[in-house]
Amino acid sequence: GAKAEGRNRMVLYNESMGMELRARTSLEAELRLALERGEFEVHYQPRMAVRSRSILGAEALVRWRHPVHGLVGPDIFIPMSERLGLIGRLGMFVFEAAVRQQTEWAARGHDLQISVNLSPLQLADTHLVARMAAVLRRYGCEPSRIELEVTESMLLGNEERPIAVLKAIEALGMSIALDDFGTGYSNLAYLQRYPLHTLKIDKTFIQAPDVDRPLAEMIVSLCRLLKLNVVAEGVETSEQLAWVARREIAEYQGYHFSPPVPAPHFEALLEATPA
Ligand code: C2E
Ligand code: MG
Ligand code: MG
Ligand code: MG
Repeated sequence: GAKAEGRNRMVLYNESMGMELRARTSLEAELRLALERGEFEVHYQPRMAVRSRSILGAEALVRWRHPVHGLVGPDIFIPMSERLGLIGRLGMFVFEAAVRQQTEWAARGHDLQISVNLSPLQLADTHLVARMAAVLRRYGCEPSRIELEVTESMLLGNEERPIAVLKAIEALGMSIALDDFGTGYSNLAYLQRYPLHTLKIDKTFIQAPDVDRPLAEMIVSLCRLLKLNVVAEGVETSEQLAWVARREIAEYQGYHFSPPVPAPHFEALLEATPA
């Protein structure tokens, strides 16, 4: 209802809007304690089949339920966590939550693939893949039911390291998606060197005011040529969904079906949607 929606609406300010230094400093101090205080929660956004309109999976998106400010969005605290050296532990918290949720839903007959966002900084952790393998084993989670989302920005700096880590992730059996596709580098060579399974077309292309504009068309054509699984991000309107369907993009996410929601709310969506 409206009250639950209010509780899950995120505060609007962010760093780029010039948060007062004092406010930011105290938020950073609180961020260091938020994990042990249990203030993070993971919400899930459905990934939909364009044709059948069924739920294929979910993207895990982290939120910070701050005791005073309410729900704080990841655009504020992910960059902070990266700066403060907290992203490794936060990332593992989200990964474990997603794995636990996958097995819980699978046991109830909903064998979804769950996607988890990975910070480029996590790829520098030499123990990352071993830690993930241990979590998958602990919950008895089939690795192919977990997808990791990376962005082109991981290419900044050393390229050999990220490639080695992605190959280890693939060898473990997890899938890899390139997130926000089209917004990063124009160097397309990596698309063939990386073990990618999915491209997520960034919402700026899906929401282009004139959806027929050439750049959006080019991105879709490129996806088709690469023969990778394609997901349209940020589908908000029926017109955008129709555009996506006309281009034979198989999957989408967006407010048109649902924003990211807490797990119980997601379960209600599962019950109400054809399998
Ligand atoms: P992302 O991975 O590209 O996630 C998609 C973002 O688009 C989410 O914002 C989602 O709520 C939003 N979105 C989904 N559908 C629509 C739509 O129809 N319209 C519009 N306008 N937006 C839509 P959110 O949850 O605020 O996350 C922002 C970013 O924070 C994510 O972008 C991701 O880069 C990062 N993030 C979130 N959770 C994590 C995490 O656990 N780890 C890491 N490293 N980054 C995360
Ligand atoms: Mg993502
Ligand atoms: Mg994205
Ligand atoms: Mg993004």
